Amino acid sequence: MKESFKIPRRVFDEVMVPNYAPVSSVPTRGQGSLVWDQEGRELVDFAGGIAVNCLGHCHPLVVEALQEQSQRLWHVSNVMTNEPALQLASTLIHHTFAEKVFFASSGAEANEAALKLGRRYAVDHFGEQKYEIIAFHRGFHGRTFFTVSAGGQKSYSEGFGPRPKGITHLPFNDIKSLADAMSSKTCAVLVEPIQGEGGVIPASPEFLQSIRQLCDQHKALMIMDEVQTGVGRTGALYAYMNYGVVPDILTTAKSLGAGFPIGAMLTRSDIALSLKVGTHGSTYGGNPLACAVANAVLNEVTQPSVLAAVRENSDYLKMKLAELNQTYKVFDDIRGQGMLIGAELSAMYKGCAKIMMKLALEEGLMVLVAGADVLRFTPSLLIDQSMIDQGLQRLERAFVAFLKHR
Ligand SMILES: *Cc1c(COP(=O)(O)O)cnc(C)c1O
Repeated sequence: MKESFKIPRRVFDEVMVPNYAPVSSVPTRGQGSLVWDQEGRELVDFAGGIAVNCLGHCHPLVVEALQEQSQRLWHVSNVMTNEPALQLASTLIHHTFAEKVFFASSGAEANEAALKLGRRYAVDHFGEQKYEIIAFHRGFHGRTFFTVSAGGQKSYSEGFGPRPKGITHLPFNDIKSLADAMSSKTCAVLVEPIQGEGGVIPASPEFLQSIRQLCDQHKALMIMDEVQTGVGRTGALYAYMNYGVVPDILTTAKSLGAGFPIGAMLTRSDIALSLKVGTHGSTYGGNPLACAVANAVLNEVTQPSVLAAVRENSDYLKMKLAELNQTYKVFDDIRGQGMLIGAELSAMYKGCAKIMMKLALEEGLMVLVAGADVLRFTPSLLIDQSMIDQGLQRLERAFVAFLKHR
């Protein structure tokens, strides 16, 4: 492979909008659950590009799918359809509750489509006064203005002028406040089955069941944001399958492309009718390259053996984290499903998640945070136990460094 010319990290500060603050290490290559940076340093990847690289880095099946499609057809726009998109929609329908699919290029766009559909469906069937969207504190749904306004962290949507109206935020997992808030004005409830960015907080089964029941009662649509939990992340193809609660609309992105940008909104035929010709669109939505990659991803992730390994390795990772914690006592709680695991720092280390993440990186381990108090692990769905062990050895060294400096 050709060695590329090194462009140092400091160039970021010169040429990029300062909305991100990337760490000093610049990765140049990845294989499976390992990444190498410009300095040739090897990193174990427990972050997976924020729950995106579900098959690890450069998996041969997705590399092959992308290469093959790249020699056939890249883009035609939605003036025409294309075979990879039709194949992908059919596969998603085959494996889920859905009857219709809309493609986009990111999670935010999939949620944008879901919220617009929720509003449009209510206007079509019940009239202009039914527009209220209910969402939850600590929820995260993307960074377009509508989706970030639906998100449960005000600081993300403040300072951009007037926010879209008609969005109510309620405490997560609180059935009573939901029952009190819902009315004939509610058009949709938007919920993550496990809040990812918000701290890896699973919805209680009763909470999701209540949303379902209250949505039916008030003729509102239940929108599940599975952008982070979808495509095998929790050990089921979609997390709603673990709960046995079926939404009306589901959004999926992140792992769907395993590193190639794609998002999708899934729904039923009767609801889909409200997005008639001309009501919504996206230039890159249904792009053949993206859909060819996603087809390869779903072929792999829908294998029962792959999903079974996710559940097994999840138990292993949680058990090993708990063992480490017996010695170092840094966590209060270790939770999550599949390869979406959160470890909440104990009271005396509150606010230290970022420091811990930096120390882990110094020891050669990529992890994520979810808020100030939670370390988040979203590795490849294909990670094996020896790689988990390697990563945890590095995490242990980070614990030692952390406790020494306190
Ligand atoms: C990441 C995420 C999004 C936003 O996805 P983008 O591809 O960054 O637009 C939306 N919802 C959830 C639950 C997410 O985790």
